[in-house]
Amino acid sequence: MDYNLYINGAPVATETHMDIFNPATGDLLGRCPVATRAQLDAAVDAAANAFKSWSKVSDADRKAACHGIGQLLEEKAEELAKLLTEEQGKPLNGVGSRFEMGGCQGWTHYTADLELPVEVIQDNEEGRVELHRKPIGVVGSITPWNWPLMIAIWHIIPAIRTGNTVVIKPSPFTPLSTLRMIELIAGTLPKGVLNVVSGRDDLGQMMSEHKGIQKIVFTGSCATGEKIMASAAPTLKRLTLELGGNDAGIVLPDVDAKAIAEGLFWGAFINGGQTCAALKRLYVHSDVYDDVCAALTEFAGNIPVGNGLDENSILGPVQNEMQYNKVKGLVEDAVAGGARVLLGANPQDGKGYFYPTTLLADVTDGMRIVDEEQFGPALPIIKYDDIDDAIARANASDNGLGGSIWSNDIEQAKALASRLECGSAWINKHGMIQPNVPFGGVKGSGIGVEFGVDGLKEYTTIQAIFA
Ligand code: NAD
Repeated sequence: MDYNLYINGAPVATETHMDIFNPATGDLLGRCPVATRAQLDAAVDAAANAFKSWSKVSDADRKAACHGIGQLLEEKAEELAKLLTEEQGKPLNGVGSRFEMGGCQGWTHYTADLELPVEVIQDNEEGRVELHRKPIGVVGSITPWNWPLMIAIWHIIPAIRTGNTVVIKPSPFTPLSTLRMIELIAGTLPKGVLNVVSGRDDLGQMMSEHKGIQKIVFTGSCATGEKIMASAAPTLKRLTLELGGNDAGIVLPDVDAKAIAEGLFWGAFINGGQTCAALKRLYVHSDVYDDVCAALTEFAGNIPVGNGLDENSILGPVQNEMQYNKVKGLVEDAVAGGARVLLGANPQDGKGYFYPTTLLADVTDGMRIVDEEQFGPALPIIKYDDIDDAIARANASDNGLGGSIWSNDIEQAKALASRLECGSAWINKHGMIQPNVPFGGVKGSGIGVEFGVDGLKEYTTIQAIFA
């Protein structure tokens, strides 16, 4: 089936397409339109034109429009979840595509209800100063392939809630579910408020250079984030960059290994590890190292991996061949360097990019699987003796997205968590995000935050009015 772009309130066909395959079966799923430069220009023009009126629509009407999108997402959740599973690979069940659709609805309704009232910062005999929040203009949204629909919603809803208009470009690996979702929800908005273009990476670069786009919100790899910052510089675009992570978790010697195994597992293996703020390096104190390895291995061995359309599957395939080969290569490198395989590391030939759930013990810093973001279903478990050393090793990374401390002593854990160089630090859990809590990285993991009032503010400029 051929999909279309959606520009200025109408589907738009393209001359060229890319084939999109189901990562669980290798079957052709659909054909993604490849937009031309002229079609991108048309989408930006439509968004710029729509901005003139959308930016003046009342706050109450924009709020209602966002709630309307939330309602539609609920009605279409099962259709979109199935397409998402076929395209991305994540199962319908578990923390999979139905969960992702639930997140889309939850974030939409929560963000719809957020307010940015005028702030009075001075009101005395010397005068009154008010801060007004204004929309920026046309927002370009560029999304990755791991949580394509939820991340699209994270970009779109705060942008339109605050009066901006949007041109979104999904990842070339998972464009179809976004194209379908936008076709559905853009139809509920005035034409031109929400537009979608798809194509290859060069289309993203054209967007970050585009004179008609005033802000880019990007979620993806650090390397691409750097390129976007460079190509957005000549037009001085506002940027929100949510980039890669290499999150460390540190397990203290006072834990009950069996009690934390489930939390550790899902912290690391949510979406098959293809999650920015997944636990990617696990540091375990030598007193409990063997117990934690055994408990994790037992828990992980019981999680079914299979085609996501099978209602029994809890984890699915890796999304694409490039990522599959990356994970495979990092595991092989670690094993060649002396890592001990607790589970997995033995991919089988066959259809789909199924990589087995893999746990590696006796891993050391300096191995590629520790120093690089694996972004897949393989977790290195590293032994430590001294907590200060463990914190230093956790922080010895260019990334700073998330981190976690696992302990029964919550006060000690909080004190250690505050020493982690990251935007979110969790105690006895990892990767939990919620729509009312700002989320973003420090160091090389990004610029700016999403979610909550702080996230909403990123889609506005301030005007100070002195009366
Ligand atoms: P990617 O950077 O390869 O691609 C992301 C998007 O950028 C795609 O739409 C791609 O077409 C586009 N793109 C590629 N080159 C571009 C360029 N030069 N200019 C503009 N756009 C360009 O990332 P990915 O592989 O799709 O996603 C995985 C990465 O994303 C991981 O590193 C992961 O940690 C990160 N991620 C971060 C968050 C977060 O919130 N911090 C969330 C999800 C994923």
